[in-house]
Amino acid sequence: MRVKLALAPRMGREIAVEEVELAEPGQHDVRLKVVTCTICHSDIHANTGEHGEYDGPGAAGHEIAGIVDAVGARVTYVKPGDRVLCSEVRQGCGQCDQCMHDRPWFCENIPPMSFRVPGCFTRLNGERVVQTCSGTAGFATFTNAHEAMLCKLDDDIPFEIGSALACGFMSGFGAVLNRCAPRPGESFAVVGCGGVGLSAIMGARHCGCSPIIAVDTNPVKLEAARRFGATHTVNPKECDAVERVKSLTRRFGVDHSMVAVAGKGIKKTCWDLTAQYGQMVVVGHGHPREETLDEFSAFDVLLSRKLTGCVMGGVTLRRDVPKYMEYYRAGMVDVGALLTHYFPLDRIADALDDSERGALKNVVVCDDGYWSQLIDKFTQEGTLDANVI
Ligand SMILES: [Zn+2]
Ligand SMILES: [Zn+2]
Repeated sequence: MRVKLALAPRMGREIAVEEVELAEPGQHDVRLKVVTCTICHSDIHANTGEHGEYDGPGAAGHEIAGIVDAVGARVTYVKPGDRVLCSEVRQGCGQCDQCMHDRPWFCENIPPMSFRVPGCFTRLNGERVVQTCSGTAGFATFTNAHEAMLCKLDDDIPFEIGSALACGFMSGFGAVLNRCAPRPGESFAVVGCGGVGLSAIMGARHCGCSPIIAVDTNPVKLEAARRFGATHTVNPKECDAVERVKSLTRRFGVDHSMVAVAGKGIKKTCWDLTAQYGQMVVVGHGHPREETLDEFSAFDVLLSRKLTGCVMGGVTLRRDVPKYMEYYRAGMVDVGALLTHYFPLDRIADALDDSERGALKNVVVCDDGYWSQLIDKFTQEGTLDANVI
């Protein structure tokens, strides 16, 4: 079927919307009517090849919320009309040895995430479109996805909130709960306060951490960090970040630290502000070439300091996302405050530019009807100027 898709004709070129052919969904796939797809910085990195090179036209978009439009013959989890979010993370089968050991990521019965391979879209000139950032591409009016990537969205959760939960929020918040698992009162530092870092700060607050120290070179992001629960902010442009964090933690450094931004030297700074008995979790990353850890020595870990990483919050999709919806409903996490500006799909280039200029999380609205509803809502609220630029 003919649909609209935002794509870059070659790696790193400007993204624009064009008509493409969407394949029929496979046996385990659903066709989704995409309502919103929020922008994650991985979409930008993927387009430019920073996460790995690719050949041919490329399409991104992996924070998807929408409505099931059609299902393949063997789909059992959803039916047409269901509201869902679609994430890169796959729900495991629940039956295999890995799933039974709480490692659905390594499920033996669901195809692994496949990046930078041709997917369900073909250009009208016959070129297959590479899905640069996920097992699907969501900056489109319709897309296909394996049913394991879906989690049902409760009726009262707005699509744009579902989108934000699908990657950015879970990557930060989930990493705190699932990987760091801090005890109340332990100290926590987040280096890099974009959407993922701010979600990690919400996670640290949720777990009762103190102090919660936000580290970033952008004063606007540090101000946002305070709103999301940071008790202290540190700007490495204005001071020695390691010294400052140590002064806030009786010279020990923090119990837990997270790097939520790409860049080689940044990991070393984060490591140095982590206590000798603490743990650092790497979440943000750039190209593998830029992320070597050759500054580390055996002495760095002799007193039990741990280095680990976490992808997509280490979540079990259909266990954790329903919890996040509860926390959102109860006002315990402010996912809505992560959303910056709204753009219709045709203006995706502007949305991406605005993200590169520092917007926390922009919402690309792929459904015309929903766009009209949002405009009416913002007009009534008097928030149109703040939300649509
Ligand atoms: Zn993402
Ligand atoms: Zn499994």
